[in-house]
Amino acid sequence: MAKYLLALDQGTTSSRCIIFDCQGNICSKVQREFPQIFPRDGWVEHDATEIWASQMGVAVEAMLAIGASAADIAAIGITNQRETVVVWEKATGKPICNAVVWQCRRTAEDCERLKREGVENEIRTRTGLLLDPYFSATKLKWILDHVEGARERAQRGELLFGTIDTWLIYQLTGGKIHATDPSNAARTMLFNIHTLEWDAELLRLFDIPACMMPKVLPSSGVFGYTDARLFGGEIPIAGVAGDQQAALFGQCCFDAGDAKNTYGTGGFLLMNTGKAPILPKQGLLSTVGWQIGNKVSYVLEGSVFVCGAVIQWLRDGLGLVKNAADTEHMANKVPDSAGVYLVPAFVGLGAPYWDAYARGGIQGLTRATNKYHIVRAALESMAYQTADVLAAMQTETGTPLSALRVDGGASANNFLLQFQADILGTKLIRPACVETTAWGAATLAGLGVGVYSDIDELHAARRIDRTFGAQMSAVEREQLLEGWHRAVERTLGWAK
Ligand code: ADP
Repeated sequence: MAKYLLALDQGTTSSRCIIFDCQGNICSKVQREFPQIFPRDGWVEHDATEIWASQMGVAVEAMLAIGASAADIAAIGITNQRETVVVWEKATGKPICNAVVWQCRRTAEDCERLKREGVENEIRTRTGLLLDPYFSATKLKWILDHVEGARERAQRGELLFGTIDTWLIYQLTGGKIHATDPSNAARTMLFNIHTLEWDAELLRLFDIPACMMPKVLPSSGVFGYTDARLFGGEIPIAGVAGDQQAALFGQCCFDAGDAKNTYGTGGFLLMNTGKAPILPKQGLLSTVGWQIGNKVSYVLEGSVFVCGAVIQWLRDGLGLVKNAADTEHMANKVPDSAGVYLVPAFVGLGAPYWDAYARGGIQGLTRATNKYHIVRAALESMAYQTADVLAAMQTETGTPLSALRVDGGASANNFLLQFQADILGTKLIRPACVETTAWGAATLAGLGVGVYSDIDELHAARRIDRTFGAQMSAVEREQLLEGWHRAVERTLGWAK
């Protein structure tokens, strides 16, 4: 009997493999970084061959570490950095150029031009996204426009497109399966989130031949089997979801209104909105969470550009702390931030402001301000930014949140989570296993091969580390938020 679920977690800076038992215990974990390529200012690329090699390497090592053979693995789940574009030859499986990474801004001008042409609303209605270089469409068009002969070859059916999930599935199956799932497809800006198909109008707008697009299959279910030569046996690939959606699934946010926030380098708040997409006003994205059978769960997503990264800045930029974990006891050395607000708009502000010209600021300094106030204000800024995104979401959905589930590296900080609960006036829940992204992919795969008969069994496997209840008075909360919003206002448009 196969006893493990193997998750491939292909991130922006590293490839990871985590092997879980079916109760959610981590049995093996291996991680490997791979090179980031910066050919020009604002451009970011990866070598897709290195992504594949590192991902395959960590999978084999993780299996070896516990003596697992292919027969011990019930299924593979894949979760991945989203939006990144790979184009490869059908005949050889070789990429025709480096992968263009989600962070890459090379198509910023193309997006500006499209905005001037007035197509943004149409794109937003069909895809739920904002017209931004972040998403795959303009990157794929760029490759077809700039790599010699690419568009003609694509039209002749010689080239295939994929996001990272698709690339890995193709390699794992020895080139047999060219497929993706709706959570990844929804980030390309070529996928209609209402019909759940590649959108013919958008393929025309971006001049993308339909024959290079992968087949879209449900997020849970068998996509194909690994080439027997890779792991010494065939293993079903049975779960696929983009990283943020996988984390939402891993946190058991299965019902409309359930939400999670990830405190990583950036912050990602996702809320399950149920069976139909909500088309939000400026600032939030509407996207697909996952598809199981013919049931689709939609989500609202808001991202904060600088979240845990503000703590890295305290450490590396200011030298104010030795390591990130120190911020917790430093913040507790003072009873409050003494009116100091730090707005970490280092690269502009994300949801709900979307101001590329905002720049960071520290407001409310006096002669009595000390380093503990600054550290505390930095942690508080992570909570305030999250509160702003959540407020925007609640305006859209009209439903108050009963509890926010949290994960990501900075969710280890108890001060941060208590302040977050206070400033939201909402309970926070931190799971025992913070590897929610990999666990989400593993459980989608487990469901796909019948290790679990339904999602209720996943609720049963969920274990909570700690909950944080709101203790602050409503009056104090309002005063603090009012100060934060005044501080944000002063940073907007600064670099214009
Ligand atoms: P990512 O996956 O986005 O690279 P992680 O989820 O590993 O990030 O989280 C790392 C981020 O969290 C870093 O920016 C770091 O500064 C921050 N961080 C880690 N531990 C703590 C802590 N105890 N308190 C505050 N911030 C922390």
